[in-house]
Amino acid sequence: MSTGPILSVEHLSVSFPMGRERLVVVNDVSFDVRPGELVGLVGESGSGKSVTALAIMGLLPETAHVIGRIDFQGEDLLTLPRRRMRGLRGRRLGMIFQEPMTSLNPIFTVGDQICEAIRAHEAISRKEALDRAVLLLEKVGIPSPRSRLFDYPHQLSGGMRQRVMIAIALCLSPKLLIADEPTTALDVTIQAQLLDMLQALREEFGTAILLITHNMGVMAEVADRAVVMYASRVVEQAAIEDLFDRPQHPYTEGLLGSTP
Ligand code: ADP
Ligand code: MG
Repeated sequence: MSTGPILSVEHLSVSFPMGRERLVVVNDVSFDVRPGELVGLVGESGSGKSVTALAIMGLLPETAHVIGRIDFQGEDLLTLPRRRMRGLRGRRLGMIFQEPMTSLNPIFTVGDQICEAIRAHEAISRKEALDRAVLLLEKVGIPSPRSRLFDYPHQLSGGMRQRVMIAIALCLSPKLLIADEPTTALDVTIQAQLLDMLQALREEFGTAILLITHNMGVMAEVADRAVVMYASRVVEQAAIEDLFDRPQHPYTEGLLGSTP
């Protein structure tokens, strides 16, 4: 197996129209994620983390100008035709967002949503898909998963909804999972459980994870390596121990100082 990166973001810049000008919100950003690695993308609100994630997923709005290269398993995602990109999302590239209530469809049951995610990419029967859904829900720590298949999103707690989102993201064993502030809306105990679960899933499936957070504590706990963004740029990237032992950039030092 190759030990090269699974994802290489190379000189990525993204701008949006602002009046007659363009506002650059991601500026010459470069970083790699290796197979099975958990990389933290950290930085304060507005630093360009989510826009970077959306660029990787091919989900930026039409108004965005994007330059650079995003190499995923040897393909440049920025030049991939839309249809190919849709095929990649869900299958090899998974994503979970901050607020699962807005990502889950309120009018479909948990079972239906997982089934649909699987059957969009694999020709298997509904029964087979439901059986797989039960296994997945079990993996993400949902008690009595079979009965949960018939629940609607509003019947679940925030932590449970986030677990369902993770189950959906993992249903096709993606090579890379992008998690954008997956724990921010949850209380501290649930946050810790979710992070443990991400770790466990990474070990089991070998999925690489790009974990986006503004919380240095979260990062320190689970990441192998951190990429620090500040005002649209990457200001530092290092193994997590090195970052804590000898931060190179004053902004990183400030971030570490404010960790509870
Ligand atoms: P972060 O996730 O680090 O908090 P974002 O990546 O969401 O930050 O945003 C970076 C900057 O890009 C912010 O100033 C935000 O207002 C701007 N931005 C994000 N999406 C859009 C958009 N669709 N149109 C215009 N500006 C945007
Ligand atoms: Mg964000």
